[in-house]
Amino acid sequence: MQPQRDAGPDGTAAPAGSVVARLRFDAGRPCLNLLATIGRRGATPVERVPATPDFVAWLTGAGLVQAPVPVSEPELQQMRRLRDAVYAVVDAARCTRAPTPGAVAVLNSFAAHPPPSPRLAVGGRTVTWHSDDPVRGALAVPARDAIDLVTGPDLARVRECAAPECRMLFLDSSRGGRRRWCSMARCGNRAKARAHAARTRPPGRTASPRGAAEFQR
Ligand SMILES: [Zn+2]
Repeated sequence: MQPQRDAGPDGTAAPAGSVVARLRFDAGRPCLNLLATIGRRGATPVERVPATPDFVAWLTGAGLVQAPVPVSEPELQQMRRLRDAVYAVVDAARCTRAPTPGAVAVLNSFAAHPPPSPRLAVGGRTVTWHSDDPVRGALAVPARDAIDLVTGPDLARVRECAAPECRMLFLDSSRGGRRRWCSMARCGNRAKARAHAARTRPPGRTASPRGAAEFQR
């Protein structure tokens, strides 16, 4: 299924600027931040990187490039190919089953590329990052991170947001390891508000359409 463009609060297509504003970098791992470029996985998936300018914004926001770089449509497709492979591999690992060989091969091919390398400036106090192929080098970072995640101890801390529409994967680094929401400000508060509305609603009344619309975001 092709993810849709993000929808505004009233369900209409949002302008590109607000799509970028919804980019998320709070999943806790570079590879999970890549997966978070698809929103609402549990409902109608939303593509948060619908075009090359959004991809530039994501690369910059994720800190994978030091300054905006030109990207092509094929490079955007490469990102989506890697994203599908990362999701397949992480999802399989969480469910303790083997991923498809195709997903593993794609992930390995991206991880094989060298990530950006640090270069110390002559003054000895500043670093710049270099890559022969900035986009491919940038994508090597989440690819390598995904391999590290599924083969390391953090796998046990990967959670799926409890909001059925969201299902964003995030790393739970809370002490108790019982975090339920990708973000309290987003899904947590909405779920609380919904639960409160359900408790205070007169008997026999169902949730208002407005309440449903608010959960679209
Ligand atoms: Zn969520």
